[in-house]
Amino acid sequence: MINELTKHELGLLIETEYDEIAQQYLRYFNISSLSASYLFNGPPGIGKRYLAKLFAKLLVCESYQANCSCQSCLNINNGTHSDILHFDTDSNCDLNDANHRNHNSDGSRSIKICQIKRINRISMLSPTTAKYKIFIVSNINLMTPEAANALLKTLEDAPQSTIFLLIANDINNVLDTVKSRCHIIEIPPLNFQKIQKILSKKFQIDDHVASDFAILSRSRIDSASQLANNQENVDSISKIFSELSQILNAKTIDRINFAENLNSIYRSDPVLFHLILNCWEDWFRWHLYAMNNINIAPSFFNKNSSFSFNNIISNLKNIAYAKNQLAFNVNSLVSLQILLLRMQGSD
Ligand SMILES: [Zn+2]
Ligand SMILES: [Zn+2]
Repeated sequence: MINELTKHELGLLIETEYDEIAQQYLRYFNISSLSASYLFNGPPGIGKRYLAKLFAKLLVCESYQANCSCQSCLNINNGTHSDILHFDTDSNCDLNDANHRNHNSDGSRSIKICQIKRINRISMLSPTTAKYKIFIVSNINLMTPEAANALLKTLEDAPQSTIFLLIANDINNVLDTVKSRCHIIEIPPLNFQKIQKILSKKFQIDDHVASDFAILSRSRIDSASQLANNQENVDSISKIFSELSQILNAKTIDRINFAENLNSIYRSDPVLFHLILNCWEDWFRWHLYAMNNINIAPSFFNKNSSFSFNNIISNLKNIAYAKNQLAFNVNSLVSLQILLLRMQGSD
């Protein structure tokens, strides 16, 4: 896992790479009537929080430029700026709120009303050193409906010196009434080349290795860094691909056995499980790209030319179907057995 220090360094690198995009958005911050709330929307793991932090710097640092080292910017980098406050699903609650109880047994990862009530209370205070008090709230697509309504009230009531930078992975799960209060900024994922550049710089690895990680991460800078940061991940990825080719040639009984193994991974290590299914999907996608002369595949990928178009599409459909079944809590062992039995080797 990435430790706090490397997370910070990574943030600086992302900041440099995103600076170009940030410049395009600068105009939102130069207008005389600054919006009271902004909503950054984009896929998970692409650096939205860093970008929000960068915008917070633009608002509190007079002479902002990339990698500025004034005291304000340093404090923001260290997470110690008294007027830049971060919130997420695990943030503290307002302990006096009537809705608050011990959430340890909830098991759900959501933003609850008692957490928003605390934000509400703090948002009424004046900034201490900066011109603005800035609230960076991640994962607002994971708010409970009660929390979303409380946030709406907070956005409406907050004083002019308070600015909200809200972050969502999926804007479709954000209440329309909240969206309508925000200036929405769509954040695109960094492209493969930029991720490759960040990884090469940060981990000092060869460009082609960095490019492999960028492709395997599906443009998620967080996953790409985790892959590059740990040799064990690289080993487990090569194991995933060698197992896949074995499965495609395996007999029924071996497939049934593999489904059982996969099911226990699903139960014990969901992150690894999803990595496996994503790698399988990617492997078939790379075949499709190669058929169409699109050169997106890691350096270790060897196209198996005996796969037909229909064969690849049917494998992709079966993986997508299994993922969908699992998302609806269908019996996981049965779903995985069906998937394994349906997976087709070359024609
Ligand atoms: Zn600065
Ligand atoms: Zn609570």
